[in-house]
Amino acid sequence: MAAAAATPHSLVLQRSNTAVPRAAAVSSSSLRLPTRAARISCTAVAAPSPSSPVTGAAERGVYNFAAGPATLPLSVLEKAQAELVDYRGSGMSIMEMSHRGKEFDAAIKKAEADLRALLAVPDTHAVLFLQGGATTQFAAVPLNLCADPSDPTDFVVSGSWSDKAFKEAKKFSAAAVAWSGKDGKYTSLPPFDAIKQNPEARFLHICSNETIHGVEFKDYPEPKNKSGILVADMSSNFCSKPVDVSRFGVIYAGAQKNVGPSGVTIVIVRKDLIGNAQPITPVMLDFKTHADNASLYNTPPCFAIYICGLVFEDLLAQGGLAEVEKKNAHKAGILYDTIDASGGYYVCPVEKSVRSLMNVPFTLAKGPDFEKQFIAEATKEGMVQLKGHRSVGGVRASIYNAMPLAGVEKLVAFMKDFQARNA
Ligand code: PMP
Repeated sequence: MAAAAATPHSLVLQRSNTAVPRAAAVSSSSLRLPTRAARISCTAVAAPSPSSPVTGAAERGVYNFAAGPATLPLSVLEKAQAELVDYRGSGMSIMEMSHRGKEFDAAIKKAEADLRALLAVPDTHAVLFLQGGATTQFAAVPLNLCADPSDPTDFVVSGSWSDKAFKEAKKFSAAAVAWSGKDGKYTSLPPFDAIKQNPEARFLHICSNETIHGVEFKDYPEPKNKSGILVADMSSNFCSKPVDVSRFGVIYAGAQKNVGPSGVTIVIVRKDLIGNAQPITPVMLDFKTHADNASLYNTPPCFAIYICGLVFEDLLAQGGLAEVEKKNAHKAGILYDTIDASGGYYVCPVEKSVRSLMNVPFTLAKGPDFEKQFIAEATKEGMVQLKGHRSVGGVRASIYNAMPLAGVEKLVAFMKDFQARNA
């Protein structure tokens, strides 16, 4: 709509070309408009600065390093804004229409098709758009994959999130820790042959990227269990790089880091694993419920799915996930290089070979007071949400797909300057 041409934070008076009944025309005349109808909408539009390319964040005054919900591509937000009030000529927003109508049906089908294209999801796997966050999948996975709570399952505990997944799975399976990084403060991953896999386990579970500790699998262990099932919580590196989906029984991810707003959780599950849920499984947690109903068993998170669809379009337009991975590797590279070249001023505790391209945790050797000062000064400079997770402290820069290179460049320039001023 006309919003694209608006001035910053302006009140936009939009004139519709549609003739309206006389009564409406009368009310518009009181606004001293011509006899045709006028629609008045109040639209706050942050116009891109003419001097800088539309990269996504600086145009809004800040670079947002939040771990999730996280920054989204500006182009996606602008597209959503432009079609918010009147979705593609329907006269309604996508939030206001039936999830069984033709508009939403087209949106969810396109979102699934684009996600399948991005990740080359094979026909052997179903794609589900669910609710309840990744946290709900901590229970749903053992409920769906185990015949009963005595079935053994294996967990690699590489940080807070896989620990939570393990603890929840204990309620619905005989979950065991096949490897734990706790003694090393979750700064490493095991060589795969050090994972003590139970051949009787129903599945092996990993968290592909620990959002709090910044530990990321660069390859995936082979499940040695008799069913050959590998399960991954990919919440914080989903769609950040290509993944061979055929290696996984289940991949699940909350959307709110790389692909959309909170409210939708994406599950990619091998079709032969659907339909065997434990009898106590609530209907909403049974993969079959959602697979049989194309994710429309009940009212889905329509707006969140729509935004994910826009993000998938954007990722495809960038050239797909191989291109996206190159950008992510470059961004993370300059940040880790700055930390490593600081002579110990900044410290990233994570073993180099498993450092996350998405979440970069670091501390300042001079201590928490300097970290506070660092975060406060960075905030003043427009680099926000850099505080480390409350459980570990320090600083964490989350640099998901939508964080522009310019944001990371600004951060490393600030880090060098801060060090020079506070050596
Ligand atoms: N797993 C990982 C790796 C996460 O980062 C998070 C959220 N930060 C979760 C699970 C939990 O996700 P949700 O809040 O969507 O339940």
